Amino acid sequence: MIFEILTLFPEVIENYCNVSIMKRAKDSGVFEVNTVNPRDFTKDKHKKVDDTPYGGGAGMVLAPQPYIDAYESIKIKPNSVTIMLSPQGKPLNEDLVCKLANYDQIIMLCGHYEGFDERIREIIKPEEISLGDFVLTGGELPALCLIDAVSRKLEGTLGKIESAQDDSFSNGLLEYPQYTKPREYRGHKVPEVLLNGNHKEIAQFRLEQQIERTKNKRPDLYKKYIQNNK
Ligand code: SAM
Repeated sequence: MIFEILTLFPEVIENYCNVSIMKRAKDSGVFEVNTVNPRDFTKDKHKKVDDTPYGGGAGMVLAPQPYIDAYESIKIKPNSVTIMLSPQGKPLNEDLVCKLANYDQIIMLCGHYEGFDERIREIIKPEEISLGDFVLTGGELPALCLIDAVSRKLEGTLGKIESAQDDSFSNGLLEYPQYTKPREYRGHKVPEVLLNGNHKEIAQFRLEQQIERTKNKRPDLYKKYIQNNK
């Protein structure tokens, strides 16, 4: 998997990808993260990448030329997808993350300021993905969320110790409660069933907890789970 990120702030992407699990997986070749800065492609003598909006209005709009030239500098692989991070896009969720993990190359366009000149959409025709119904100052955090979530699906990113097998959403339910040592903390005890070594009982307890939690915290997911497991 190669992630190619078009961003005016490559250091934001690089800093996050150079620590912990991301760094280890990247260093062992599970995925690659490349950044391309549209500012390096601008033909403006002051290195400007944005300008005022036609028709008036607040803020600055990202000009098409630096973004399109930066995009066209990337060698596109056959099994590739181009994504524009945008609050107007399809919301990112686990299903979408799993689909994206099947590509060999994910190219992401991070906006800033007031966002993109519409011709960037018209010419590149990216898929648009949103992190949710709120507006951030830039596309770097959503791009990092996507890199992080997708890379967890790639073989070799997580060691056995960080397995994603029982994570929330993996079977349509939220994860069961987790406990570690000590057995008792400030009068709160670890449920007895987790201490008895009976794997069947533990699995049953955890599934019940998953169902109960999902019902209370995410009635929308619970409804779907019940429909799919009728
Ligand atoms: N004026 C734009 C609008 O109202 O649709 C918002 C621009 S926002 C301030 C700047 C950039 O941040 C966007 O171009 C996008 O790349 C990114 N961004 C902001 N919120 C986002 C979200 N919820 N999901 C994904 N990207 C987002």
